[in-house]
Amino acid sequence: MIVTRFAPSPTGLLHLGHAFAALTAREAGDNFLLRLEDLDRGRSRDAFIEAIYRDLKWLGLSWGEPALRQSRRDAAYAEALAQLTRMGLTYPCFCTRKDIADEFARAGEAQHGPDGPIYPGTCRHLKDAPSGKPHVLRLDAQKAAALAAPLSFCEHGKNHAVLPLRFGDIVLARKDLPAAYHLAVVVDDAFQNVTLVTRGEDLRDATHVQRLLQALLQLPEPDYAHHRLILDDSGKKFSKRDNAVTLEALRQAGATLSDVYARLGL
Ligand code: GLU
Repeated sequence: MIVTRFAPSPTGLLHLGHAFAALTAREAGDNFLLRLEDLDRGRSRDAFIEAIYRDLKWLGLSWGEPALRQSRRDAAYAEALAQLTRMGLTYPCFCTRKDIADEFARAGEAQHGPDGPIYPGTCRHLKDAPSGKPHVLRLDAQKAAALAAPLSFCEHGKNHAVLPLRFGDIVLARKDLPAAYHLAVVVDDAFQNVTLVTRGEDLRDATHVQRLLQALLQLPEPDYAHHRLILDDSGKKFSKRDNAVTLEALRQAGATLSDVYARLGL
């Protein structure tokens, strides 16, 4: 049985890009699940969660289990972090954005990853954080790679080599939060028994580091299917700021489901 999921963040209204992602996941799975990625409590809103339910119902979608909310999953993330820490693969990092920029300036140049410059490892020698001082927790990617590589991920039956250092020492847990995106995704995909991760091709790079975390945490390996992105009229990705193409706005303007399908090229 193929289990897929749609995993929006309730930090804005869903737009056509989300509709395509949700319909793609539904189409690819025997069991289709919903996960609300509301890790960032400051930016997530219950009103957007209600809107997600409304929009998905409008698209004719229903999901197999109650939606999983990341904001309720602190204990699971803490356990995964503890596991990586016991393996000696994490370190506390106190650097501010400015510290990191200064370090790049000193070094003359920065190595770049998919999300921008790769963290230069200033705090990598630290083991224990002095209590009370805010910090993020980072993955020691070199050590992690030495332990887990070589790895691959499978997309449409084809294996791709994982580049475990693609993002460098990623943040596993943010200062104010129990986790960060990559850790939460792998812990939750395993918890929801997702067997096929479908998502936009803008997240294909994320698969490298997510496969690394899965291997370290001994979680099952899902297959991957990254799909094309739905672009606006000027050829750019939709963003949360494009209010005119939210599903709610389209519905209010009288669009029908077949209009949406046509706009998505379905
Ligand atoms: N929450 C992410 C987003 O809104 C998707 C995460 C994923 O599919 O892995 O783009």
